[in-house]
Parts: sequence; structure tokens; C-alpha cells
Amino acid sequence: MAAQSSTVVVDEATIASFKAQLRGELIQPGDAAYDEARKVYNGMFDKRPRFIARCVDVADVISCVNFAREGGLLVAVRGGGHSAPGLGTCDGGLVIDLSPMDGVHVDPVEKTVRAEGGCVWGDVDHATHPFGLATPSGFISTTGVGGLTLGGGIGYLARAYGLTVDNLLSVDMVLADGSFVTANAEQHPDLYWAVRGGGGNFGVVTSFQFRCHDVGTVYGGPIFWPLDQAKQVLTFWRDFILGAPRDINGWFGFVAIPPAPPFPEQYHGQTMCVIVWCYTGDMDQAAARFEPIRAVGTPAMDLAGPVPWPALQSLFDALFPPGLQWYWKADFITDLSDQAIDLLVKYGGQLPTPYSTMHLYPVNGAVHDASPDAMAFNYRDANFSEVIVGVDPDPANNERMIEWARNYWLALHPYSAGGGYINMMMGEGSDQVRASYRANYDRLAQIKARYDPHNLFRVNQNIEPAK
Ligand SMILES: Cc1cc2nc3c(=O)[nH]c(=O)nc-3n(C[C@H](O)[C@H](O)[C@H](O)COP(=O)(O)OP(=O)(O)OC[C@H]3O[C@@H](n4cnc5c(N)ncnc54)[C@H](O)[C@@H]3O)c2cc1C
Repeated sequence: MAAQSSTVVVDEATIASFKAQLRGELIQPGDAAYDEARKVYNGMFDKRPRFIARCVDVADVISCVNFAREGGLLVAVRGGGHSAPGLGTCDGGLVIDLSPMDGVHVDPVEKTVRAEGGCVWGDVDHATHPFGLATPSGFISTTGVGGLTLGGGIGYLARAYGLTVDNLLSVDMVLADGSFVTANAEQHPDLYWAVRGGGGNFGVVTSFQFRCHDVGTVYGGPIFWPLDQAKQVLTFWRDFILGAPRDINGWFGFVAIPPAPPFPEQYHGQTMCVIVWCYTGDMDQAAARFEPIRAVGTPAMDLAGPVPWPALQSLFDALFPPGLQWYWKADFITDLSDQAIDLLVKYGGQLPTPYSTMHLYPVNGAVHDASPDAMAFNYRDANFSEVIVGVDPDPANNERMIEWARNYWLALHPYSAGGGYINMMMGEGSDQVRASYRANYDRLAQIKARYDPHNLFRVNQNIEPAK
């Protein structure tokens, strides 16, 4: 991964002039707000930026980009701050913190939504829901629109309406040279191609415009089964989700049951397998559609039912507060063989800490509608996105949970498609980034050379400019 710290010294007059240009706050070491402002979601990363600029508008972002480029400062761009490898911060450089830019505008006639670059998905859901609309996002509402979208966006609506990038109509961006552009199918189509999966490599996105769909109340939520039924449930799920109509989605996971309501006390702390569902079809048919699912084995807890979309999206928010230690490993899988299922069950039954988990997200259905070269996101032939995460509040458990995640991933990797989802991996280096874009990598490197030839935006899953 490219260098992520810098020790450039900037003189006081230049700092004062930069500060005067900003309408947002400029936070520096020693300021009361500094320690809070430098935190990112993954508690494993404790970096000390030289400046944190809380941008309130595009003009602030332009000033930041110019200040960093002219001063030779390392730049980290922060949307929601959820990056697995802590890419929303850096040591010694400038953090462009977009979090104050959280405005959302819905066009209910055109069925589109425009979200500023610092929004989290909860901001978008809140704004679209009163119109009975939603755009595909993820599985949790506290994640940033910025990072999730730029990496692809895998969520509950993927089988029905595709990835988040498949619904991205246009972006406004500040480029490395400080210029402001709009990229969409007509304007800067190469940039539009690149930002749909290519991460934060090409500039700072100040707003995203998405297509929305008629999604208001869905039928969803988790159904849990005891661990000894995991093989049966996972085998059923694989076969079901590969052939199911697009209006039903469900991701499979291994989880430890939290010691809190609504979970009955007898299950607290037990490792179980779960499928978290989201059905967007006719509500009158929902119960009948779930009958064969409920007939699999003997579910221990069944919490699926009609639920407003924003409630499903935020169901797990409280379980994962900011500041925990997170270690991620990811792969795409095309065919989930019986042998792979045996391994998934083996390691899934050995969660090293109560927060640790393994999820398999379906990426078939509408995700397969786009061709692999339609945009930067390439894995259109994969059926599953696997993510293994060791999670715990206590850094003392890191070694144990990292070893589990690595061993789990290593065991499954021979059954994978090669690369993984860039939004769900740590800083694994340029080979893994390249593998994640496959044949699209070279074109990405050329577009990077056109828009960011000096790699100003390198605190990301970095694509180096083509020579
Ligand atoms: C609890 C949790 C749940 C998750 N669930 C899902 C899920 O359901 N589906 C899914 O697809 N992913 C999911 N992810 C992964 C998530 O997509 C990535 O972590 C993503 O990078 C987070 O985006 P962010 O804006 O919050 O992060 P940040 O740390 O702010 O940014 C991540 C990267 O994106 C860049 N970036 C962010 N905003 C902008 C912008 N406006 N302009 C330019 N660059 C920008 C940053 O520079 C950085 O490189 C989850 C992550 C967590 C921690």
C-alpha cells in the first residue's frame, strides 16, 4: 500500500490563510476537539493527522485539495469513517472530513436522490422513506455513502436492483488539481466508469445522485438456527438463493447471540447460524413465500416479518458501536461446493470473540445484469461475497481473532474466485487490489494517470497511475 504518513512542515502564515478560506472547522493537535475528531470507526487505527478539516461545502473541499497539493501533504478523505483499514485518516497529513456535508435531496417525480459526500446511509433512508423510495446500499445504516458507493455497495436490495454503483447516476467531484467536475454517462464518462467501484482514487466526491426504487415496507429480519443445523441450512440457502426470484434476498452468517433483548436468555452467548432476509415483493404473498424457508430444520428464533426499510437497515447498528477492533478478510465465490460448506461450518463454529462473524452475501440476480467491463466493479460472475471479521472491544484479543480470520480465509481461499470486495479487506497490498479489479485494473490505472497523475489520493485501496 502507498505511504500513509507524512511529516511535511507548513508555515504559520500558510496555515492561517488556509483557515481563513474555510467555512468549516480546522482542527489541529492541541485543540480540544482533536482527539475526538481523529477517531475512525475501526479502533485498530489510532493515527495523528496534522490537520483535520471539517468541510461544509464544495468550496471547503477545493481549498483543502489545493492546500494539500501545494504543501505536499498526505491526504485522507473521510466519508463515514467505516473503512476496514482505517483509510479515513492518516499520520501527519490532512484529513478532509466530509461528515458535515450530509444534506440529502429527493426528487420523488424522477425517483432519484442526491446525497452529499459525507452522508451515512441512515441520512439517505430517512429522506427517501417518506416517499416510499429507497436506493440499494448495504446492511447497516451507519456506513458512509462515500466509501460504500465508491467500492461497489453490496446490500439487501442487490438481487432486486443491483449494487449501489449500478444505481449511481452522477457524481460531483473535486479533482487533484482543485477543479470541480460532474461525471455521468454524458460528462467525463471515463471518470464515471472509474468511480463505480474504483474507490476514492480519482478525487473527492462532493455529491452522489442515485436512482431510487419503490421500497417502503419490506418483509425481512433474521431467522436463527442452532449450530448443529448449520450444514443443512447453508446447503439449503446456497441452492435457494441461486435460483430464487430477485425480489427475495438473504445473507447467511455465523453469529454469537448477544446477551440482550429481544433474544431469549437461554440463547445468550450461543453461536448460531442466521439468514437475514429482505423480501420486496407483494406483501400479501410474503408469508407463503417464507413457508419453505421456515420448514428448513428447526429455527431457534424467527424474527422475520413486515418491517419499514429504514428499520431493517438499522437493525444491527447498536450491536456494532464505533471504536471496536476490526480485522477483515474477503473473497468472492462463484461456486459454493459441498467441501467449501464443510469448511465454512467448521470455522464458523469457532468464533474467537462474541462480536466476530462470517457473512456470505448473495451477489447474483440483478448484480449479474451488468457486464464485467461496464464499470470498475468487475466480479459480475461471482455469486457470493464472503467476509470474515474478527471483532472485539479489547485489543488484547486481536492476535487470537486475527489468527482465526486468517486461517478461515486461507481454508476457503482455494474455493474462491481470486480477488475480493475491496470494501471488506484490510490493506493487503497492490496484488490483492489488482486481483479485485481483474481485467479492469489497467484501464483504471490509465484513468488514474489522467485525473490524479501524482497519486495525491493514495490513502485508499490504491490504484497507481499508469506510467
Ligand atoms: C459495520 C460495517 C458494516 C458494513 N456493511 C457493508 C455493507 O453492508 N455493504 C457494503 O458494501 N459494505 C459494507 N461495509 C464496508 C464499507 O462499504 C466500507 O468500509 C466503506 O469504505 C465505508 O465507507 P465510509 O465512507 O464509511 O468510510 P471512510 O473510511 O470514510 O472511507 C473509505 C474510503 O473511501 C474514500 N471515500 C469516502 N468518502 C469519499 C468521498 N466522498 N469521496 C472520495 N473518497 C471517499 C476514503 O478516502 C477511503 O479511501 C461495512 C463496513 C462496516 C464497518
